[in-house]
Amino acid sequence: MNVVYSECEIRGLVDKWHHNNLTVALVPTMGALHEGHLSLVELASSSADRAVVSIFVNPAQFGPGEDLSEYPRNPEDDIKKLGDYGVDAAFLPTEDVVYPSGFATKVDVTGITDTLCGRYRPDFFSGVATVCAVLFRIVRPDFAVFGRKDAQQFAVIKRIVEDLRLDVEIIAGPIIRESDGLAMSSRNRYLTPKEREQACGIYHGLICASEAYHSGVADTKVLKQTALKEFEKNDLLELQYLEIVGRNTMQPVKEIDGTALMAVAVYVGKTRLIDNVLLSSAD
Ligand code: AMP
Repeated sequence: MNVVYSECEIRGLVDKWHHNNLTVALVPTMGALHEGHLSLVELASSSADRAVVSIFVNPAQFGPGEDLSEYPRNPEDDIKKLGDYGVDAAFLPTEDVVYPSGFATKVDVTGITDTLCGRYRPDFFSGVATVCAVLFRIVRPDFAVFGRKDAQQFAVIKRIVEDLRLDVEIIAGPIIRESDGLAMSSRNRYLTPKEREQACGIYHGLICASEAYHSGVADTKVLKQTALKEFEKNDLLELQYLEIVGRNTMQPVKEIDGTALMAVAVYVGKTRLIDNVLLSSAD
């Protein structure tokens, strides 16, 4: 596996692959890799001839008081995992590679960022959109793979690709969960054993709502109450938001007509976790 740090090195590799008519898929990550990330790596490898994984803890997407300095960083472990997974290149840019001196651009997506996480993390999506636009321009992948766990982020990425005519196809990977249903996250390692035990209540709440939906309940107020009742069984879960929104618009809906997304953000102690489930009549 190639382990590269500079724009020039990653461009050299990708240019060479493209010159040989090989397609390239990029998986952007912030490292501290787990099976959720690795499932995206598998998707990248099966979608393109070459797979590149970027690891960059992006300061622009952390607000004041958020966990930028404590965010888990294990580059050696990550590189080992990626090597074992047959990745072709790990790209670990430093901050000045992504944001060279004088960098002054922000990519700001409106509308779909007003709700859910965007309401509570005002700089988050412009940080994500900006770094992804830059990474797409540096790496020039044919495909980029993102997880459905970050559903609003996925909608934002699709939007910038369409609006800015970025020449990359976005691929979605399903949410990978622990055996008790907790969505895998780099932040799960912050949880104490007691918090970890209760954290799977997030998934149980979503599943109860999903079951109610499939048994014929379409009123989103009732569905939210169903999930809330389940969350409340766990005294360490502190809800930030629970919303049912259109899958692409991220705007709240009252009655589900076809497909909608139930999305949640919860504090478990000091750790903020997000999760979601698709409520779809097609399932
Ligand atoms: P992060 O390192 O948290 O920025 O995540 C990098 C990518 O991995 C994003 O596209 C996430 O949506 C995706 N991801 C994180 N956790 C999971 C998971 N449990 N299942 C699927 N994809 C995930």
